[in-house]
Amino acid sequence: TATRRPLIAGNWKMNMNHLEAIGLVQKVVFSLKDEEMEAAEVVVLPPFTALRSVQTLVAGDKLAIGYGAQDLSTQDSGAYTGEVSGSMLAALGCTYVTVGHSERRALHGEDDAVVATKVTAALRHGLVPILCVGEGLDVRRAGTHVAHCTDQLDAALEGLTAEQVAGLVVAYEPVWAIGTGEVATPEDAQEVCGALRARLAGRFGPETADSVRILYGGSVKAASTAGILAGADIDGALVGGASLDADEFAQICRIAA
Ligand code: PEP
Repeated sequence: TATRRPLIAGNWKMNMNHLEAIGLVQKVVFSLKDEEMEAAEVVVLPPFTALRSVQTLVAGDKLAIGYGAQDLSTQDSGAYTGEVSGSMLAALGCTYVTVGHSERRALHGEDDAVVATKVTAALRHGLVPILCVGEGLDVRRAGTHVAHCTDQLDAALEGLTAEQVAGLVVAYEPVWAIGTGEVATPEDAQEVCGALRARLAGRFGPETADSVRILYGGSVKAASTAGILAGADIDGALVGGASLDADEFAQICRIAA
């Protein structure tokens, strides 16, 4: 993993209004040293309504923190009430956008085809998709979790070139670990992340696979970070609940640095 810069991304979900967002970003940045933020890439994924405030803060104070959105529309503009497009996110200076988060898949009916369309929509606007895959408890119990995740990866990357895939971030997020306090063991996390990289290598070549950052997500806290990041194919973490606590999140970033 030496050539891949660790990435810690905080998925705030539907939390923090735009004023609270400013406070949280400031607290995180000011508790980290410059060297720590150079060694590890630190990113926050606030709700849409806070992106403009975060952009203004980050650009105005030249803060070394990245940001992005939690979702985007499959479409670029038009009669899609309530939707937000990739071009709008790009105009707000977003670098990243999560695609296919399990909450979107489960609560908003996003299937593999929608996820694939959103990946291409993100790429069309120069955004880096953080593509989320992961199995539910039933699949884990059946022992077919590796195939489930590599199938989701295949479906989401349908039709992409190696060049497009090279810039991606993939997050392995077992659904049974998200928001449950039940973090995967380092071995379980590495098993799937290793299989995802092997699948990328098989489809797009080893060089492309080596350049993709693969994150683990699911109840990551500071106490579990070092163990998870020890996995050879794990390049960082997608952090939900713990990213709302500035001290805890900064501590996770420090451990990754
Ligand atoms: C997530 O929603 O991406 C996530 C990993 O959540 P949590 O850390 O709260 O399990």
